Amino acid sequence: MTDKPARPILKLKFPPAVKPVAPPPPPPAKAEAPVKAPWRCKPCGGPVTVPADADPASDVRCPACNANLGKAASFLSDPPEASKVRARYLG
Ligand SMILES: [Zn+2]
Repeated sequence: MTDKPARPILKLKFPPAVKPVAPPPPPPAKAEAPVKAPWRCKPCGGPVTVPADADPASDVRCPACNANLGKAASFLSDPPEASKVRARYLG
């Protein structure tokens, strides 16, 4: 049996190329329109949202069944005037 010469350990001549730094991922998209409170249309049960910047004098309509659910002011008041609107307050 002959002793095999130990294999020389190969060394890298140059350090590995530095990877270019990837740009940081964009921040997660935030909801554009601020929603005051989640509601459910009483006639159809569909979700209804009222933008916080909605005109208080405007009527809020269900996007699903187009029912007139009440004035935006009633939705946007704090606490919401749930008894004055045809929607169920979930918040
Ligand atoms: Zn509806």
